[in-house]
Amino acid sequence: MSHFVSPEDPLRDDQPAYAAAFEGWLAAGPAAFRDAARPIVSSERRAAATRELMRTLFDDGWSRYGWPTPAGGLGGDIMHRAAMWEALARHGLPTMAMFEHLEILAPTLVAMGRPAFVAQVLPTFLRGQECWSQGFSEPDAGSDLASLRTRAVPIDGGHVITGRKIWTSWAGYARWCLVLARTGSVEDRHRGLTAFAVDLRSPGVEVRAIGQANGTDELAEVTFDGVPVGPDRVIGDLGGGWRVAMHILSHERGTFAWFRHCLLQGYLSGALETGSPAGAPEFGSPAGDGALGQAVLDLAAVRAASYAGLRAQAADAPLGVRAPFVKLLLCAAERSLNDWVLESDPTLALGVGDDHAAVAWQEYLFSRIVTVYGGSQQMQLDTIAKQVLRLP
Ligand SMILES: Cc1cc2nc3c(=O)[nH]c(=O)nc-3n(C[C@H](O)[C@H](O)[C@H](O)COP(=O)(O)OP(=O)(O)OC[C@H]3O[C@@H](n4cnc5c(N)ncnc54)[C@H](O)[C@@H]3O)c2cc1C
Repeated sequence: MSHFVSPEDPLRDDQPAYAAAFEGWLAAGPAAFRDAARPIVSSERRAAATRELMRTLFDDGWSRYGWPTPAGGLGGDIMHRAAMWEALARHGLPTMAMFEHLEILAPTLVAMGRPAFVAQVLPTFLRGQECWSQGFSEPDAGSDLASLRTRAVPIDGGHVITGRKIWTSWAGYARWCLVLARTGSVEDRHRGLTAFAVDLRSPGVEVRAIGQANGTDELAEVTFDGVPVGPDRVIGDLGGGWRVAMHILSHERGTFAWFRHCLLQGYLSGALETGSPAGAPEFGSPAGDGALGQAVLDLAAVRAASYAGLRAQAADAPLGVRAPFVKLLLCAAERSLNDWVLESDPTLALGVGDDHAAVAWQEYLFSRIVTVYGGSQQMQLDTIAKQVLRLP
């Protein structure tokens, strides 16, 4: 039952009151939250539990704050979303799973999508019914994104897309993919790109899961063979795909760190309370103290930097060069937290424990690749070298 009753909703303009009310909802221990907060090893079952949580959060109104009313939200801004995810993580939610794109892609969809299309897809995304994926990288275009070759050719009533994307997170679970495709020539580089929302159920789309070392199937390869896309599915302007991509990446490299760090902080606090990251009764060694100290410091650094990013975003200020610094701090925190986890319980690597241990090991392995997604660590350093230090 929604607590939302009136268009004069006081929680919309009072984010601390919203946070307090949401805390009360969580303290009552709703079943959908309890199910999603358990350690779940199977990606499919984790996805189902997270979908159910998202449905409940939407139906009860909580996840609609922070999104504009014409798009199906209840108003407010990113600070509402920041408070919701922080509380969920503090109470033990281990992952946003495929809903991480709510904080990576959705802000750009809302800012640059056709309003009628956004009003159609944002509520189904928020409610956990339809997920999104991000089709940027290709087998020969990762760091050098401007060299991508997937083509969108104009036809009567839209475009036809042909090409191949790789490392597409959550495509196996998603209904939609935000595809960056070439509408100009290869020589046009970043000026010849357009962003399209492609329905992955269309004929001509094939999604093939990529098995990962940690046993999950987040990543996929997606091929598009003559897939028609209507004009209402263009995000931003024709030929304006680079602007769309930069808008998305500024979230993925900047404000997303807040949401991800909340989960890491929740993981750390939960581990300290229960005795160990994997829930075993005994842990802790003097050798682990240094690693724990490093993790705490790194988490504090990413918290401070990403909070400043949230405030900037709430004030409609550009994140600019703040984004690569925040991304680097997040990578450091992911790694040092998981270094501590493994130091605390090296048996995790043997894979003989319970679900707690299996999920801890999955997270450890994932922390080894975080320096790649959203633009590699080297590329963030490159941006800082050029844009801040003005190195040649
Ligand atoms: C977990 C995960 C999730 C991902 N999810 C998505 C997704 O949802 N959608 C999507 O489109 N992509 C996704 N990616 C892909 C990711 O964005 C690319 O892997 C990344 O941009 C690097 O591209 P690449 O793999 O082609 O490596 P390359 O670009 O080939 O780089 C290889 C190495 O060379 C270095 N390098 C390359 N160019 C330079 C340079 N100019 N200066 C210095 N060093 C350089 C890189 O840092 C890297 O170490 C994901 C990746 C991971 C690991």
